[in-house]
Formats: sequence, C-alpha cells, structure tokens
Amino acid sequence: TQEVREVPDPLFPAVAAGSGKEALRFGDRKLTYAELGAVAGALAADLPKDRRVAVWATPTLHTSVAVVAALLAGVPVVPLNPKIGERELGHILADSEPALVLAEPGVELPAALDLPRRDIPLEGDGKPPASEPDAEAPAFIVYTSGTTGPPKGVVLPRRAISSTLDALEDAWQWTADDVLVHGLPLFHVHGLILGILGPLRRGGTVRHLGRFSLEGVTEELANGATMLFGVPTMYHRIAEAVATDEALASALKSARLLVSGSAALPVHDHQRITAATGQQVVERYGMTETLMNTSVRADGERKPGSVGVPLAGVDLRLVDESGAEVTEPDAVGEIQVRGPNLFTEYLNRPDATAAALDGDWFRTGDMATRDPDGYVRIVGRKATDLIKSGGYKIGAGEIENALLEHPNVAEVAVTGEPDDDLGERIVAWVVPDGARPTVEDLADHVSKLLAPHKRPRVVRYLDALPRNDMGKVMKRALG
Ligand code: ATP
Ligand code: MG
Repeated sequence: TQEVREVPDPLFPAVAAGSGKEALRFGDRKLTYAELGAVAGALAADLPKDRRVAVWATPTLHTSVAVVAALLAGVPVVPLNPKIGERELGHILADSEPALVLAEPGVELPAALDLPRRDIPLEGDGKPPASEPDAEAPAFIVYTSGTTGPPKGVVLPRRAISSTLDALEDAWQWTADDVLVHGLPLFHVHGLILGILGPLRRGGTVRHLGRFSLEGVTEELANGATMLFGVPTMYHRIAEAVATDEALASALKSARLLVSGSAALPVHDHQRITAATGQQVVERYGMTETLMNTSVRADGERKPGSVGVPLAGVDLRLVDESGAEVTEPDAVGEIQVRGPNLFTEYLNRPDATAAALDGDWFRTGDMATRDPDGYVRIVGRKATDLIKSGGYKIGAGEIENALLEHPNVAEVAVTGEPDDDLGERIVAWVVPDGARPTVEDLADHVSKLLAPHKRPRVVRYLDALPRNDMGKVMKRALG
C-alpha cells in the first residue's frame, strides 16, 4: 500500500497568496497582505536557521512582521514583554538561548538583554518561502503568566496553532471579512496567537490600538471593526462606563463578537454590558500549554459565568482527587484536556512536563463543573481558589461573583487562610466602592445569594488588587 503523508497546509494562505487587502494597521500605518508577505519574506531569508529568536513584543506592527517572518522561516520565537523585569528576563534568556533579538527601530532595550539586535523592517521585497516546516516543528516558546509560580517556557508546535485557530473559526464563524480590535499585549498566547495569527490565518484584518482604551475601542468599532478580544479587566472598564457612554454602547452594539478570556469574566460585568448593549460576551477558556479548550458558538447559547463547551477536536474531562472521572452534572473536578491543541513540552523541564500529563491528557490545574448541557463553569485554580472550610470545598470564584454585586465592592479576591475550627476561613480582599463594607454586610449579602457556609469571615481592604500584565489577580501576593 502507498504511504500517505499528511502535508500541513500553509499556516497563512493569505500571506502566501498576497493581495491588496489590509492585513494589519496601527494608527496611519497599514500593511496589505502583499506588503506583509514581501517584508516578512525578506526578513525570513535573513534569520539564523536552527536557532531561536527573541522578539521584543511592542504592541505595534513590528511584532507581527517579526513573528510572521520567523514562522515562515521555521525559526522558533521567544516573545518578550517590553516591561519585563531584569530577573525574569535573565531567566528567560538563560532558559531559551535565543541567537538574537528582533526589535522595533528606535526602541531602547535593557542592558540585561545582551543579544545581537536586528531592527524589524516594515518594508521589504522578499517572498514567502515555497515550502513550510513540519507541523510538529516548534513555532514558539511562550512563557506562562506566572500566576501560580515562576513562568514556564511552553514549546508550541505549528500543529497546535493551526488546530486551535481552525477550531475557533468553526465556533465563531470567523471569516476574511472580520476586522479585529486588538488592545492586548503581544507576548502571551491571547494577544499573539488569537489576536495576530487568528485574523492573518483567516485573511482578515487586525487593527492595533497600541494600548487598550475605551476611546480606541469605540472608534474602531464605529469604523467597521467586527470583533473585540479582551481580558476581564477591560470588560470591567467597559461595564463601568457603558451605561452612560452612548458612543461606546452604540459601537459595542454594532460588533459581531465580543470575546473575553485569560481569566474569569465576572457575571456582574457581563450582565451590565448586556443590559446596556443587548450583546452577550463570548467567553473562551484556554492556557499557554493547550491554547484554546472551550468557547461557545457564535450562534449558540451563551451562559454568563460559563466558558462554554469543548471546541472541535478537544476532549475534555473532569477528574477527582483519586483520578476517577467525574460525570454527575454540577460536580467539581479538575479539568483535563487532550487534542491537537496541546503543547509539546515545557522547555528544559522534563519533570514538570511529566507531572503535567496523565497519559495523553494534560492536567490544567483548573477546577470546574459541567451542567447537564455540557457547559463548563470554572470554579477556580486548584492551587489558589479551592477553599476547604467546615468540611466543604468552596470555589473562590462563586463568592467573588456574589460579592461584586454588593454596591460597596468595586473589586474583590477571595482566599482561604488557616482556621482552628473550620480548617480554612474565607477571606475577602476588597477594593471598596464608596463606604467600606463591614464583614457583617458582606456575610449577610453572600448568605442571601449563596449557602451560608460560603460567607466571608474576614474582610481586608486594599486600594487595588495585585494584578499581572494580563490583569490576572496574583493571589500568591495576598496575605
Ligand atoms: P502560571 O501557569 O505561570 O501560573 P497562568 O496559568 O495564569 O500562569 P496562562 O497560561 O497565561 O498562565 O493562563 C492560563 C490560565 O488562565 C488557565 O489555567 C485558567 O486558570 C485561566 N483562564 C484562562 N481563561 C479563563 C476563563 N475564561 N475563565 C477563567 N479562567 C481562565
Ligand atoms: Mg498555568
């Protein structure tokens, strides 16, 4: 019999084909698909083969050009946060050993970044190479957000990228006519793989804001953009403003899809946006190691507080502490996933890779329930969000959602701390809105909405919650 070999299709057919259609825009600077192919093709020809390159990921067109060039050349990219601290930078450089750094011309690099520098051009006259690397070839080393511990380098093959983007195309009915408003950082998978590579794979358009702002979102959506990708802190700002900002409300109404991810979207914010615009935000759940796992279909039912159902090709199961599968509706278990969306390994960390895998299933460390329709609700992270109090296992997220409905709570994080009677007691870290709510106020409020054993026993006031660059609350910094 004849051997059948799967030939990966080009990652970016529209870049390979080239056309006068707008691919990327930042302010007045645009690149068509033909221009992007020419400049990225030229840069690709110039990159060192068999080495990695770092990209200083400023939120402009340059990062996109550098990433597309490296993908065309088959050179793995290590994206770097332009606000990175010296220690983390040192760790990433020593771990990933890039041959050089690609950076936007004129942008100053820290002294600790002692690599040969190459400026990223926006013009060139090259061509995308005729053949593409193997589907299993590494495309990126992306470092995790560091929410639960030091960031780990995740090796992502091209296959994970194409499969996750194709599953999202299917779920979101993503087309070449879609224009994305992009205000996310470009050094995590959300902004980088969904935000840049998603539209480029579809032949659509990315409009960079440079930095998220309500004005920028309003302007781009009013000018024909169809999709917005954001993190919950962005949707929180939208929720705070949208009831009184008519221009923002009408711009949001015109959008085809508002997508939130990277952390849980508080139900209260979701509901306020729906009340002002009629739009339901689409949540998606994913992580650096697995890219995207769940979402809802563009034409499917959206349930606030849920991240939807597994994407095409993704297997998802919940398991209990003994490793047995949890099948009853609404019972809590750890999410495990498997599918073509998974990473290859943690760079230089075979033990961590082995510990994260259960056969071909990846242990996400996230706890969740599934309702009878199969919709997944994330309860929180196993490491920080599961509180064992009075014989109950309580998810912090549910209590946070309830507390956010209290008029004097602007932001909140819930944690557990040791307690002689209860095992752990529930602590609410509150950024007050107006008067400081007392622990009795909050306990009454939660007891009315949820079971009484979920009420906070302690309240602590903060001016702001400790958050990382994706707006995620760093619970390990509390206490
Ligand atoms: P580290 O692994 O270094 O501790 P991290 O897990 O925050 O950091 P990422 O890979 O960027 O790093 O984030 C993935 C995590 O973000 C998921 O495991 C999950 O806890 C959380 N997350 C992502 N999307 C959602 C969502 N829609 N709802 C709730 N949590 C989400
Ligand atoms: Mg993680």
